[in-house]
Amino acid sequence: MIPLTVVDVRDAEPLVIEVLRSGSLAQGPMVARFEEAFARVAGTAHAVAVNNGTTALVASLQALGLRPGDEVVTSPFTFVATLNAILEAGATVRFADVSRTDFALDPEAVAEVIGPRTKVLLPVHLYGQPADMGKLAPLAAEHGLRIVEDAAQSVGASLEGKPAGSYGLGCFSLYATKNVTTGEGGMITCDDDEVADRLRLLRNQGMRARYAYETAGHNYRMSELHAAVGIPQLAKLDGLIAIRQRNARQLSTGLAGAPGLAVPAVLPGRSHVWHQYTVLIGPHAMLSREELISELTERGIGTGVYYPKLVFDHECFRDHPQIPAVRPQEFPVAHRLSQEALSLPVHPALTESDVDTVVREVREALGA
Ligand SMILES: *Cc1c(COP(=O)(O)O)cnc(C)c1O
Repeated sequence: MIPLTVVDVRDAEPLVIEVLRSGSLAQGPMVARFEEAFARVAGTAHAVAVNNGTTALVASLQALGLRPGDEVVTSPFTFVATLNAILEAGATVRFADVSRTDFALDPEAVAEVIGPRTKVLLPVHLYGQPADMGKLAPLAAEHGLRIVEDAAQSVGASLEGKPAGSYGLGCFSLYATKNVTTGEGGMITCDDDEVADRLRLLRNQGMRARYAYETAGHNYRMSELHAAVGIPQLAKLDGLIAIRQRNARQLSTGLAGAPGLAVPAVLPGRSHVWHQYTVLIGPHAMLSREELISELTERGIGTGVYYPKLVFDHECFRDHPQIPAVRPQEFPVAHRLSQEALSLPVHPALTESDVDTVVREVREALGA
């Protein structure tokens, strides 16, 4: 079996043991060390560690002081955490369609939904490739919007050399399957000193010094053990990304021309860190996506569908007071992607021969 994800954190042992021996498990020097290393990766002045990627998004939106009725524009083709965070922060969600090239917010569609109540632009750097920040950042600036990036899947990615997470408030997830993982964990990166200070307050019950509360806050802290698991992964991140990129190149070369299948594009000026390697199975393929998944499962190839429905298209979100009525058909590109996207293994534990196997099995299954 070639699984979709493999997690290897064995080299975290010495640091984890160091924490265990210290007896100090709650946020402390190891978290600070992890934050410093993370800020270097994102090229930002600050990195604030939190307990998961969802709270990274919630805290970021809270730090910007959104009020009820303020609008956040985001992608409908994302994980539910993006939506849940906006709802939790009390804002209203506006969706804009995505582009078929990078699966992320289409600047032209965004321009159409920006209104007088729009306060934040929240692009999702999906699958490991940055959204079109070259156009989205100026658009946000023109309308006085703050940028919160859902960079959960894109640690180490960049656009024109500028890292994902450095365009505004960068929100990263360190969940078990993400490219850098602490099991559960999150990180917020930014250059704004005031926002970083506010994030640190919000994370720790709004407390400046012991029992000196400046604001209503929360407990979003990361533990020393989690930080110890993450630090060695950042040290070898460049190498891990290079292996993902090599695997992706091998997949795209091997799968090129397979009937009914489109390989993912890496757009000019962008570095893709391949959290997911996602092909599109079009209507003219010999098998439907679901048939191909069963066929590949039988052949021992793990697959994933991210995401089978648009994020708002679930009963629990219908008539939600913070989600103005929307239908999947209003987002034709995202809607179609949700029907065609299929992720194949690309992780760094794959050997060259594993990748060959994936290519061969997919091609055979599609009659190529
Ligand atoms: C994983 C993920 C999140 C949420 O991160 P958690 O750490 O699971 O809370 C948010 N957005 C996207 C796009 C993700 O993939």
